[in-house]
Amino acid sequence: MFSRILIANRGEIALRIIRACRELGVQCVVVYSEADRHAHYLSLADEAICIGPADPAESYLNIPRIISAAEISNVEAIHPGYGFLAENAHFVEICRDCKINFIGPAPESMHLLGDKVQARKLAEKSKVAVVPGSDKAVANEDEAAQLAEKIGYPVIIKAAAGGGGRGMRIAHNEMSLRVAFHSAETEASSAFKNADLYLEKYLEQSRHVEVQVLADHTGNTLHLWERDCSLQRRHQKLVEETPSPGLSTEVRQELCKAAVRLAKAAGYINAGTFEFLLDKNNKFYFSEANTRIQVEHPITEMVTGIDLVQWQLRIAAGENLKLRQKDIRQQGSAIECRINAEDPANDFAPCSGCIDRFIPPGGFGVRLDSHVYPGYRISPHYDSLIGKLVVHKKTRAEAIACMKRALQEFEVGPVKTTIGLCREILTHRQFVKGKVDTGFIERTW
Ligand code: ADP
Repeated sequence: MFSRILIANRGEIALRIIRACRELGVQCVVVYSEADRHAHYLSLADEAICIGPADPAESYLNIPRIISAAEISNVEAIHPGYGFLAENAHFVEICRDCKINFIGPAPESMHLLGDKVQARKLAEKSKVAVVPGSDKAVANEDEAAQLAEKIGYPVIIKAAAGGGGRGMRIAHNEMSLRVAFHSAETEASSAFKNADLYLEKYLEQSRHVEVQVLADHTGNTLHLWERDCSLQRRHQKLVEETPSPGLSTEVRQELCKAAVRLAKAAGYINAGTFEFLLDKNNKFYFSEANTRIQVEHPITEMVTGIDLVQWQLRIAAGENLKLRQKDIRQQGSAIECRINAEDPANDFAPCSGCIDRFIPPGGFGVRLDSHVYPGYRISPHYDSLIGKLVVHKKTRAEAIACMKRALQEFEVGPVKTTIGLCREILTHRQFVKGKVDTGFIERTW
């Protein structure tokens, strides 16, 4: 195991990684921007290094500054968390050149899976269905219109370099396609500095179900079952749960096996997630791979009893999985609600400012992953996630009851949050029946 690592991230995930390090007896160095100077978790690390101003380009995304911090603090490895540099293969290559271990997959698998077009080809080779769509970036509006005619409306336009649901547009006919194509192009080039777009059949009333995978250097590739992330707003996840309600044992097995096949085909090592869309008939299609730890990883940890972040460190340090597939059981039911500083009544506009009131919930079955405390100031420079409320109970009905009472206890103010909306979702009869799809929140609220 490493003796000292650096955490190239902030907020709740930096704290999550510090906790894993503490339990493993690994020293940790955390980097921070000037905006995070007062974050409490900094005092839990063995060393904290300021790497620049609030703007991510000057700090958390700044490779030379992060590498310098790693070199002066004498670490053996870097954990990237999620977002920022976590899926940047160039950064991983630089770590390799500097003889610093990267806690995540090799840059080759990251390149392969990070490119949506190449990932689709890999899926086809691995006999995993993909959503019908373009097998390369579409050159222009006319080509997009021709292709849409071929695959049939509705279609979804996506940014090739996309992420976080940005740059996506749904079109129901040629006229809306032509309008959407231009706005998606503008958004993609400003958000990702890459205007390439591609087209897919839009699966109506589909569910988002993803599979957690762990793989070691010997090729032992295991799945840790699925997470249902169908509750989304603007194509971004809000509530996640495992097991996915309404999935038959057979489909669940097939889905998990498909994820393992994909991971093996990509030569994948470490923790990764394979995302699928399930149509109304429970037919599943591979959508994309995330080559990092996911925000929603705790629900998998709760039902399997496996600490994913600790395993990321162990695998990166060369340790092999001592587990076999049949040892990994999905026990009970877990739900996560993302608590964001956002105003659901105002199109989920992010809220910044000081959190004066912060009364966290607790009790049997409740886990809160949050870096926030009373007096914490939310910076407008970063995402709006202020905590992840997770519950784990024997049955789904008990987990829902537990989450409802935990949300009731949770008080955050004066900033607006998603707590109230999550409470309404958990009470909604469609959710209780387990019958929701990715459009549910937008149709209902
Ligand atoms: P990102 O990388 O931006 O997160 P994804 O490809 O993971 O984008 O898609 C995010 C969400 O957008 C999915 O969970 C789903 O709700 C919706 N989505 C994406 N592709 C399709 C599709 N072909 N049909 C229906 N919904 C889709």
